[in-house]
Amino acid sequence: MLENKNHSKTPIKNLGEFALIDHITKGFTIENESSRYGIGDDAAVLDHGKDPTLISTDLLIEGIHFDLSYMPLKHLGYKAVVVNISDIYAMNSIPKQITVSVAISNRFTLEAIEELYKGINLACKNYKIDLVGGDTSSSVTGLIISISVLGSAPKKKIVKRNGAKENDLLVVSGDLGGAYTGLQILEREKAVFKVNPNTQPDLSKYTYCIERQLKPEARKDVIELLDELEIIPTSMIDISDGLSSEILHLSKASEVGFHLFEEKIPIDPEVSMTSEEFKLNSTTSALNGGEDYELLFTINQKDFEKIKNHPFLSVIGHASDLKGGCKLITGLGHQIELSAQGWQSFT
Ligand code: ADP
Ligand code: MG
Repeated sequence: MLENKNHSKTPIKNLGEFALIDHITKGFTIENESSRYGIGDDAAVLDHGKDPTLISTDLLIEGIHFDLSYMPLKHLGYKAVVVNISDIYAMNSIPKQITVSVAISNRFTLEAIEELYKGINLACKNYKIDLVGGDTSSSVTGLIISISVLGSAPKKKIVKRNGAKENDLLVVSGDLGGAYTGLQILEREKAVFKVNPNTQPDLSKYTYCIERQLKPEARKDVIELLDELEIIPTSMIDISDGLSSEILHLSKASEVGFHLFEEKIPIDPEVSMTSEEFKLNSTTSALNGGEDYELLFTINQKDFEKIKNHPFLSVIGHASDLKGGCKLITGLGHQIELSAQGWQSFT
């Protein structure tokens, strides 16, 4: 039934649910001791020992969260895992297991679902995560993916959004605005393609931005670095919606204000150049773009020496008193109140 010698596509209905589950899950191996029992029974058995277990879930719907006209299925599978496990890293914890549930319409062939699972498997391998279960269903139209992730960490290391204190330093990993800029490029190419399907776009000068959009990575390395440096952030969050909105979350949970310095926001040169081309303000992309999956955290000033000059950590501001609110200090020294809905360019 799975023979596919003439490279034709295999309708999912040729397999049936159980054969499909066997087929898509067979390439996965178990890496973590805490995954005592994975796929194949009514439930998985996990044992994280004495450490607390963390859990987080995401739901991704075709047409709302992803667009398959420019998102290859393998990338989608990879990204779906990455954005999910990023939430566990954002608690200074280590993701260990995922469950993946999919609802598939008859538009998708077996080969398409294989691509999706190739991406999921690659992310599992890169981040040492075990697929321990899921559910498989059909949908009327479109693809729906729901991923739950389980992780663990010693209780004293778990970092929430609510521990920032006045004068703590505000730190971000990597650089910002790339994923949003990449999305603008892909949307433009999609529009061009609609008008003229014969064009072959040259996207080579946008490689970084497109990669940030199509193949984001979660900052496992930052969590490992913090551990090595013996720094426990006072608060932390991952950047899924944009720097501005995440700062406001830390502010609300921790009951502090923030001063953010525009000139300190890390932006890749390709992002700056592409922003100019698109008449975008790169600060705005960093503040409101989202999907960068970098980590934003606060540390006590005593830890500054340990992180200063680190190539992928930038101090971008500090916590202040709650009454002062959350302010962007521009290059010219103007103060602008941060807002979650979208900060308006001051130019
Ligand atoms: P149930 O009837 O109890 O829901 P299923 O037949 O749906 O069981 O699932 C059988 C096994 O396969 C379970 O271990 C389940 O977790 C796993 N599984 C089902 N669908 C998926 C999937 N899409 N990805 C990974 N594991 C899956
Ligand atoms: Mg089921």
